[in-house]
Amino acid sequence: MTRTFKHIETKLIHAGEPRPRILGAVSMPIFQTAMYEYGGETDYNDIQYIRLNNTPNHLALHQKLAALENAEGALVTASGMAAISTTILTVLSAGDHLLAQDCLYGGTHSFLTKDFAGYGLSYNFIDGNDPESWKKKLQPSTRAIYCESMTNPLLQVADLKAVVAFAKEHNLISIIDNTFPSPIGFRPPEWGFDLSLHSCTKYLNGHSDIVGGAVIGRRALIEKITHRLNHLGGSMDPHAAFLLHRGMKTLALRVRYQSESAGEVASFLEMHPAVARVNYPGLKSHPHHSRARELFDCFSGMLSFELKGGLVAAEHFIKATTLPVIAPSLGGVETLITRPSTTSHAGMSPVDRRLLGISDGLIRVSIGIESRDDIMDDFEQALKTQQ
Ligand code: PLP
Repeated sequence: MTRTFKHIETKLIHAGEPRPRILGAVSMPIFQTAMYEYGGETDYNDIQYIRLNNTPNHLALHQKLAALENAEGALVTASGMAAISTTILTVLSAGDHLLAQDCLYGGTHSFLTKDFAGYGLSYNFIDGNDPESWKKKLQPSTRAIYCESMTNPLLQVADLKAVVAFAKEHNLISIIDNTFPSPIGFRPPEWGFDLSLHSCTKYLNGHSDIVGGAVIGRRALIEKITHRLNHLGGSMDPHAAFLLHRGMKTLALRVRYQSESAGEVASFLEMHPAVARVNYPGLKSHPHHSRARELFDCFSGMLSFELKGGLVAAEHFIKATTLPVIAPSLGGVETLITRPSTTSHAGMSPVDRRLLGISDGLIRVSIGIESRDDIMDDFEQALKTQQ
């Protein structure tokens, strides 16, 4: 019998763990075997094989992830982009149309703008803050609506309740990339989203040592996406599954601490005379603060900001920091700093970036689990180089 647990901290440790424990093992062992002895399976998708996403390491993660967001099912994938592309290529078929939020992670943006036409798919971007305008973009072939819980890198929070209501009214599948808040900050299925996607590379694993992805949501859709993934082949490797499983156990501790630190760093930056603008949904000055407070339990460890001196000042500042690692990606235990125009959003044209408000001088920080005082001291000394 599967045990159920009430609180997310307990689910992170105990949900999905094999019962009885495998040979008594307290932590989930790695099943480093590509195939398993034939057990009389009658359906291709049930044959136990790593690519078919059904090894003990996969199954334990599927149960744990579904439990975290109170969803019917889950699937892990080889990367966040495998989760995104496989999901979209399952819910849409040639001739179908997607409504997507205009400010998206660069890889997703580029998948829509560069690859969609080749699959016979089309899309329209929508302003996540203006639900009145969405109907005009709707087409008879629209099948799904896609957004992010907090946009990368501007940390905007779309009218997510309106997204779910719009999807229900027009019979669309609602899909959300929930990487930034993680299940600690937000659980989309509880708000009516059909599918919640994650780059597990980020907070879920949290240690910057794997790439991985996840799709969480309605069972029937998860089953279809699994079958598509079985064909496309973007399965999670058992070793990555083991590391993800281990990393996830500390998710609540990490993300809550990182969120608190990010809140303090954001307030510190906001008060600094060299800083022009700070994007962090936990700040009262953030245009979507009240919406974020209603939806999220915490605001994540991600923030971005611009300096009054623009691009030149940003480059100086980043060079002058000594604590963060200058690197793309996010959600790990170490603080990372980057200019999205050179990394996560480098694939987007400069015109598109400007239209969305992503300036070349925008600095994005992923706050780690170091002492927040050390992070602020380091930023303070680096900001002195501006004066
Ligand atoms: N979604 C978001 C919000 C991201 O920031 C990223 C990567 O930075 C992805 C998806 C893609 O994830 P992955 O690099 O694991 O494929």
